[in-house]
Amino acid sequence: MSRLDAADGDRGPRASSQEQVRRENLSRVLRLVHSRRRVPRAEITRATGLNRSTVADLVAELVGLGLAFESEPERANQAGRPSPVVSATRRPVAIAVHPETDALTIGAVALDGTLVQRIRYPLDLPPTPSELVERASEVIAGLGLGSDAHPPIGIGVAAPGLVRSSDGIVRLAPHLGWEDVPLASLLQEATGLPTRIANDAHVGALAEAIFGAGRGATDMVFLNGGSSGIGGGILANGRPFGGGDGYAGEFGHTLVNSAGQRCQCGARGCLETEVRPEPLLAAFGPGFRALPAGEDVGAALTPSNREAVMDEARRQLGFLAVSLRNIVNALNPQVIVLAGFLATLQAIDPGFLDRTLREQALTPPLEGAQIRAGALGSDLLMVGAAELAFGPLLDDPASQSPEGGFLRAAYARRTG
Ligand SMILES: [Zn+2]
Repeated sequence: MSRLDAADGDRGPRASSQEQVRRENLSRVLRLVHSRRRVPRAEITRATGLNRSTVADLVAELVGLGLAFESEPERANQAGRPSPVVSATRRPVAIAVHPETDALTIGAVALDGTLVQRIRYPLDLPPTPSELVERASEVIAGLGLGSDAHPPIGIGVAAPGLVRSSDGIVRLAPHLGWEDVPLASLLQEATGLPTRIANDAHVGALAEAIFGAGRGATDMVFLNGGSSGIGGGILANGRPFGGGDGYAGEFGHTLVNSAGQRCQCGARGCLETEVRPEPLLAAFGPGFRALPAGEDVGAALTPSNREAVMDEARRQLGFLAVSLRNIVNALNPQVIVLAGFLATLQAIDPGFLDRTLREQALTPPLEGAQIRAGALGSDLLMVGAAELAFGPLLDDPASQSPEGGFLRAAYARRTG
């Protein structure tokens, strides 16, 4: 609602601004309950700074909208009265979609974080846009739109490519062979559900910021190493940062070696041409078909592969440190989250990365920065894509909840 709309009608501007404040507070409380899954009401009071009766009213409203429920505390707090626990419900779900070169994964994630459904379709060829739309429509139909079970409130897509944020057009996804695909409007037309699309690393960053290794940070950089390169996402001042059109965070294509190899982007010596899983996997030896996860690195090092793995890891960590130096100096993040094979790389010799970075980065921006491994593992992109779809509901619970009439409108659009 714009300022002009808010001042319109019979109610005076004062009543409208009170209404606006109430809606914003409702959004704050729902975001807190959603991100924490279950939280004592007293904690909501502390975290929001609102008074106790206001919080009780807001929680009651969320309960009425079917978005939260209250339960008795498991045991009394050490001091004071036990506080009822507020939890997000499982009813509204977001549809999460992740196309890759060899698979299409579609999931339904409930407001309380439960992965209600996750279907991975293995593919011989990358999915075409129409294939993706068809499969997503099938999954949504299977959930029973219009029934009470799991009303879907929107679709979020994690796309491996450059996505224009204003209209959800996938400008370039080289690994899928897609160029200028209006995926948001295709999905929206086919399903009647509002659709939001973002680059997969931006989606991963969002998930780690809210539920994972970046929780509590306002300024975070997320770097993910996957089979198709290195992607990045930025959280700045508590909000995802996409730049003018949404393309920010392409740290994989920043220069780390001026004498390096030619990258598929056309430039030379990009981070993702110097830091790659294949040579590292080769160093582990023929017994390894995939790189070990970060926590399994210790067990995977043997007397016969240790030296080769260390040499290759340190060579790559040196280039990663150059990139992290630029990130630290330019963005001053509180947390840098390394995910995918970058977490494995760091776990091989964490001291080496720390030392190399200390030698290079400016001390003041580095001294508050922590490097952490990603915490969400294989759920990362389902949870993050769902978060895109939950955005409007979290921003304005009263008008966007299924009980608020949204679902009926979506259903009417779909059945036309
Ligand atoms: Zn490049």
